[in-house]
Amino acid sequence: MRLIQAYVEEKLDWLRTALQEMRSVTMPRTRALVDQGEARLFGEWHPVRVYQGRHQSVVLAEDGFYLTVVDPSDGKKVERLFDRWMRGLAERVFKEQLAALSRQFKSPMPTSITLRKMRGKWGSCSRDGQITLSVGLLEQPRDAIEYVLWHELCHLTHFDHSKAFYALLASQMPDWQARKQRLET
Ligand SMILES: [Zn+2]
Repeated sequence: MRLIQAYVEEKLDWLRTALQEMRSVTMPRTRALVDQGEARLFGEWHPVRVYQGRHQSVVLAEDGFYLTVVDPSDGKKVERLFDRWMRGLAERVFKEQLAALSRQFKSPMPTSITLRKMRGKWGSCSRDGQITLSVGLLEQPRDAIEYVLWHELCHLTHFDHSKAFYALLASQMPDWQARKQRLET
């Protein structure tokens, strides 16, 4: 009797853990961009506060995002303001980081860098050397972002996923697989 109970409890524990893991993987974390909501940057969620004011602004403080809008009840405008701000930051961060990686790893630079809202894709590289990156990448941990940028930079040398491509990728970033795993959708 004892044994069975212990067995069942053990199974329940396992099931609980499995369910928790499943939840964290499959449950889409909704970004409620409202007052008291949350927004994600570099892999971390920050509280969002929305205030009414005459001039629009977004401020990232130590304790979260402070958004000021003319009409806080207009959710669409709040979202648009925040999207624009994130896009501007993404542009700065990605360009700086691409330049730093290319300097550090002696890689060619892309002919252009474009930001786009992408689904199911973090970045891409065209044959003529244009790199396109997902704005949503900015929500990911920094080392995961670095992996995506380095992956795309490697395509400027190897336009495929050949052995040579992965050899180049790993030569400068041996832990690329662990970084890739940190990318959350
Ligand atoms: Zn690729």
